[in-house]
Amino acid sequence: MLQKNRKKPIYEGKAKCLYEGPEPDTLIQHFKDSATAFNNEKKGTISGKGVINNRISEYLMTQLEDIGIPTHFIRGLNMREQLVRHVDIIPVEVVMRNLAAGSMCKRLGIAEGASLYSPIIEFYYKDDSLGDPMITEDHIINFGWMAPEELEIVKNQTYRINDFLSGLFAGARLKLVDFKLEFGRIIFEEEEVVQIVLADEISPDTCRLWDMDTNEKMDKDRFRQDLGGEAEAYQEVARRLGLLAKIKEEGDGESNVEEIK
Ligand code: UDP
Repeated sequence: MLQKNRKKPIYEGKAKCLYEGPEPDTLIQHFKDSATAFNNEKKGTISGKGVINNRISEYLMTQLEDIGIPTHFIRGLNMREQLVRHVDIIPVEVVMRNLAAGSMCKRLGIAEGASLYSPIIEFYYKDDSLGDPMITEDHIINFGWMAPEELEIVKNQTYRINDFLSGLFAGARLKLVDFKLEFGRIIFEEEEVVQIVLADEISPDTCRLWDMDTNEKMDKDRFRQDLGGEAEAYQEVARRLGLLAKIKEEGDGESNVEEIK
């Protein structure tokens, strides 16, 4: 749902669009239904995804704020949009894995679903033209993408987020297999202080979620692997988290999601 007095887009991403916010140092994060995979090679639409991801991400960011993880989230605006703080995004994607899946299986020849001795943290340089290459902590420090103390904060927060979200999803009978996080900086010039905050989104686009009992995939792998039923899987995740009251199918097959909260 677009606002009437829409300001100009600042950034058009694959699954989201950012607009100038109504207050200083804010942005409007708009969630779209478009989906891409394999570095933009596969493109499509997951009907109703934007509404669901907006809702799920709002819920998870709010829960994380409640346990003391600073995030960019300010408040929900409408079905597809949320107000967030304008942060300088750190160009490093942080991936945390609890079970083997995705690129790690391909790269290392590990069976999908293999259990890990302990969670694995990985870093990728955010650059589409390079295909987001995997990097090490030494690259991050050497190329100045994060200061050593910033990297420590990011790692600590990621482990805390993993513990918390693994429990939260387990309560919804979902395994948190892996996920990707992005962090940003807020610079308080007067105090000469920099705060690291969790940014971007947390949703079935950025997490792998498997049904606890059947291991059925309930995330973007349904789209990546042409498994079908992706819209229904996203809706089911939202339903299990208690975020959807009713889901109804309408006319042209576009799913329409009704919310109560
Ligand atoms: N991920 C993401 N954006 C990316 C790359 C990965 O949100 O650009 C998420 C992905 O959904 C999964 C986790 O990070 O939950 C680990 O992804 P992986 O490295 O296995 O890569 P993929 O198989 O998605 O290419």
